[in-house]
Amino acid sequence: MKQLLTTEQLDEGVTRLAAEIREFYAQKPLTMVAVLNGSIVLLADLIRRVDLPLKIGLVQASSYRGAATEPGDLQIEMAMVPVLRGRHVLLVDDIFDTGNTLSALLAEFRALKPASVRSLVLLRKHGRRTVAIEPDHVGFEIPNEFVVGYGLDYCDAYRNLPFVAVLEPSEDGSIPLPS
Ligand code: 5GP
Ligand code: MG
Repeated sequence: MKQLLTTEQLDEGVTRLAAEIREFYAQKPLTMVAVLNGSIVLLADLIRRVDLPLKIGLVQASSYRGAATEPGDLQIEMAMVPVLRGRHVLLVDDIFDTGNTLSALLAEFRALKPASVRSLVLLRKHGRRTVAIEPDHVGFEIPNEFVVGYGLDYCDAYRNLPFVAVLEPSEDGSIPLPS
């Protein structure tokens, strides 16, 4: 499997993101809302590097269905979102691809009237954006390839890889699952 970002590179990137967050949210009541399931690894690594009082919340967004590597209909589950009145919300997602997910989530969260809503993504895929918005904080720019690891899955597999890898089709064109 081709490693696109090593554990060391991810570590540096998350440390850099944490420094940006620390600077921007000093003195502001911060709630980080992680987008399940892909951003749990990022959330866990990020919050331990942000030396500020903060709360966390979770929201589920799913657009990939099973073996599809192209996005389908987006479903958002807000049941685990905490009260956000007076809070500064930072949405934390694994990857910005078309931007559809983040755009829809930003609209949902703005409707809850928190003090502010911004966004952070670990990865941004090059040349795929179809929406007007850009994430406020980006860990790494990556080429337009399907990636797994560090929380990102294919058919719910590979999330536990400690690096980000490109998932390449086998010779028969199918995408491999771990045995
Ligand atoms: P968007 O709505 O920006 O097109 O897609 C964002 C969501 O699609 C991400 O939160 C992620 O769950 C999924 N996604 C986009 N690209 C990839 C990829 O290369 N690998 C994986 N595993 N998921 C992706
Ligand atoms: Mg996602």
